[in-house]
Amino acid sequence: MKPVIALVGRPNVGKSTLFNRLTRTRNAIVADFPGLTRDRQYGDGKLGERPYTVVDTGGIGESEEGIDRPMTDQALQAVGEADAVLFLVDGRAGLTAADQQVASELRKLPKPVFLAVNKTDGLEPETAMADFYALGLSDLFPIAAAHGRGVRAMMDAVLTAF
Ligand code: GDP
Ligand code: MG
Repeated sequence: MKPVIALVGRPNVGKSTLFNRLTRTRNAIVADFPGLTRDRQYGDGKLGERPYTVVDTGGIGESEEGIDRPMTDQALQAVGEADAVLFLVDGRAGLTAADQQVASELRKLPKPVFLAVNKTDGLEPETAMADFYALGLSDLFPIAAAHGRGVRAMMDAVLTAF
């Protein structure tokens, strides 16, 4: 089986950077300002012999729809199509109210959700992750998408679910 993995999270947490690393392309636009990936973008990758498809999405959790709608339509659609969800948060910014809202939606899903605490380069992984245990998701991984730290271990766990 070639699982479809949706990347979701607030703008600027590093979803497109991770997409590029997982697909070894530069297709996703990485930006220093939030909200640049407006639609969904699909790419294929492999870990060893195990293939997967990843879906990059625009940001969720800070949409103009406000607090009643933590996920935008395109992110919800990506999540609906996916076999697993990789929920990215920013280990430097720490836990935000938007993260909490998105997590409460994702916890209801009947599919595996993995929490990637990104931007842990230069941080002690356990310290960076400490805040995020409160999200109630049991599979946490400290990563640095920009450098590759932790990405392989996380993908190994994600793909083992299939
Ligand atoms: P997106 O909006 O979630 O798709 O985030 P992007 O991938 O566009 O990245 C937003 C910003 O975070 C860019 O300036 C990236 O270079 C930066 N970034 C992404 N991953 C990392 C990381 O692992 N460490 C650090 N320090 N910065 C990162
Ligand atoms: Mg992006």
